[in-house]
Amino acid sequence: MLANKLSAASSSATLFFNTRNKFHFAKKIPSIANPFFCNSLRPITEWSFSKKICSRKMSVSRNVGPRASAEQLQDPDHLIDYTETFIFDCDGVIWKGDKLIDGVPETLDMLRSKGKRLVFVTNNSTKSRKQYGKKFETLGLDVKEEEIFASSFAAAAYLQSIDFPKDKKVYVVGEEGIQKELELAGFQYVGGPEDGEKKIELKPGFLMEHDENVGAVVVGFDRYFNYYKIQYATLCIRENPGCLFIATNRDAVTHLTDAQEWAGGGSMVGAVRGSTQREPLVVGKPSTFMMDYLAKKFSISKSQICMVGDRLDTDILFGQNGGCKTLLVLSGVTSLSMLQNPENDIQPDFYTNKISDFLSLKAPATA
Ligand SMILES: [Mg+2]
Repeated sequence: MLANKLSAASSSATLFFNTRNKFHFAKKIPSIANPFFCNSLRPITEWSFSKKICSRKMSVSRNVGPRASAEQLQDPDHLIDYTETFIFDCDGVIWKGDKLIDGVPETLDMLRSKGKRLVFVTNNSTKSRKQYGKKFETLGLDVKEEEIFASSFAAAAYLQSIDFPKDKKVYVVGEEGIQKELELAGFQYVGGPEDGEKKIELKPGFLMEHDENVGAVVVGFDRYFNYYKIQYATLCIRENPGCLFIATNRDAVTHLTDAQEWAGGGSMVGAVRGSTQREPLVVGKPSTFMMDYLAKKFSISKSQICMVGDRLDTDILFGQNGGCKTLLVLSGVTSLSMLQNPENDIQPDFYTNKISDFLSLKAPATA
């Protein structure tokens, strides 16, 4: 039964972009069917992208059809044997805030000793990969920058994948992580934290100028979000022909402190969506962009990946949309009662308390 479950790759709805020489977002997108991954409704009119992207397919909706209830993980060795790559979400799986979750170093060491590839994916765009690398180091974990995929990086990688023109600019609603990744990829940007101080003065005839050379607006979590940024982003998206609206994620809440849930990146994205009436193109979880990118980069089959996360609507859906196995850990935001609530229809393949259960659970004795 376990083997059947492991080998059953989920099918997901896919979207094929234009297969001819030109690539236009709006024409091929069935738009708002999916709340998690939607694209611009307005066609790109100013430039076209290369054929590089034309063969790409991206999942645009979550898997449909009933899924069996999640099974409690009983035999981690079996799961490990069937898995070539483990993708771990970070907060709630590896750490909580700035505190490492018990047993994580030993578990990662064990998986590496068995030759497993480990990848760490986060929707948090406030840091770059390099900055995340430092966080891993501070927590005593030996994780290389190439093994980290933050949504800040995903935004830059997406622009690279579509050959976004280097003479165009990106307007950033977000923090330093996005700026650093855009810089590394060689893109020009404006905005970011420095616009957090800017105010508007509403006097008669006041008109806000904006840069007509902005070809993309990237919106991520931003503690310094304000009306100036909303208006600037809105002007770029509405008035610059073909300007892209890219969201690092649409998370409703985030965990800035352990005392309560805080408004997440989805709140900033929602504001710009509200004023532009445009749907963003989401590059973070649960959209499949990062999964497709990882599978291509490491030449791995998605059916040999296990996505491990603590959130159903991002991590588990991300794994399912990508056709991977999924393991929910209860060390973060999802409790067993939330998982088993009849209203929850996102069921991972397996669930367990924390990733160090990989070490403590014993495989059942064989006759
Ligand atoms: Mg998490």
